[in-house]
Amino acid sequence: MILSIESSCDDSAIAVTEIATNRLVFHKKISQEIEHSVYGGVVPELAARLHAEALPKILEQCEPYFKELKAVAVTASPGLAVTLIEGVTLAKAVSIALDIPLIAVNHLIGHIYSLFIEKETLFPLTVLLVSGGHTQVMEVKSLSEITTVAKSMDDSFGESFDKVAKMMRLGYPGGPAIEKLAKEGDRKRYNFTVPLLRTPQLAFSYSGLKNAVRLAVEKSEPQDYKDIAASFEHIASKHLIHKLKKYFQTNPPKNFAIVGGASANLYLRGEIQELLKPYGAKLLLSELQYCSDNAAMIGRVAVDMYKKNMFTSMEEVQVAPRVKM
Ligand code: ATP
Ligand code: FE
Repeated sequence: MILSIESSCDDSAIAVTEIATNRLVFHKKISQEIEHSVYGGVVPELAARLHAEALPKILEQCEPYFKELKAVAVTASPGLAVTLIEGVTLAKAVSIALDIPLIAVNHLIGHIYSLFIEKETLFPLTVLLVSGGHTQVMEVKSLSEITTVAKSMDDSFGESFDKVAKMMRLGYPGGPAIEKLAKEGDRKRYNFTVPLLRTPQLAFSYSGLKNAVRLAVEKSEPQDYKDIAASFEHIASKHLIHKLKKYFQTNPPKNFAIVGGASANLYLRGEIQELLKPYGAKLLLSELQYCSDNAAMIGRVAVDMYKKNMFTSMEEVQVAPRVKM
């Protein structure tokens, strides 16, 4: 079995995964959403302190599995440096105490592998990652052959939901709150411009849309917020659809997946499903509980890394807030 630790942002999570079967034997996550909500976003120092409290508590519950552990995996990058360190330090301690090797996992590959929790992998795969820190399209041939074909030039899709929610004082995280509000709203009432509509480049941008929404919020009353939320969600998704359509002209999809926290958005899921219809492409989705950060996805990557002897020595494990991918 492999023990996996995730602390890249505001979720403290630990999982135990069986190597031979991919079975998730244990998974526990303590989210800090309530603590950060009052600030309208994640406060790194507070997050680190809460990880330091939560992770050892969860680890204690894994004691029955200690004898069976063959490796300890941990998210090493990308993420908030001060919170990543909490997980990495604990993983090093486990590695020393149990004399088992370390596996340093890339959090974004973790999101891709959220599709394969308790399952076999399926490659090649075109993946849209929509999370708090990333909006990117990737061609994934295998664990170690991943090419990014488009990414955001500024804010991410999820981040724009968080910022719009903050403008409306809906707390953090904004995605679920905006999605809920949007369900009651009129998607056509506010005619926000689709970002980068007339530029040929395969890239995303959410800062312009965010600013347009800010102006709309400033000029309206709270009873208009549901229509603003609905129109924003519509245009934010349309931007993704528009660029994907462009990409598919030369690269028609066969297997397509949406991953990351914002892939839980049901409106986006529906729009992507429509987009894929003419191609007869298969749509892969993570279970809703595994869209946002968790340790089960890190454990699932680690199983494949373990089988390929992809270990990292104690000295080599480095936390990196950003990675090139
Ligand atoms: P990254 O994975 O890029 O490092 P992260 O780990 O902070 O960033 P995730 O936990 O994968 O991000 O996703 C969190 C983001 O997903 C937040 O921005 C949140 O608002 C967004 N999100 C969650 N649910 C929804 C939803 N239903 N609709 C839109 N966005 C959502
Ligand atoms: Fe994430």
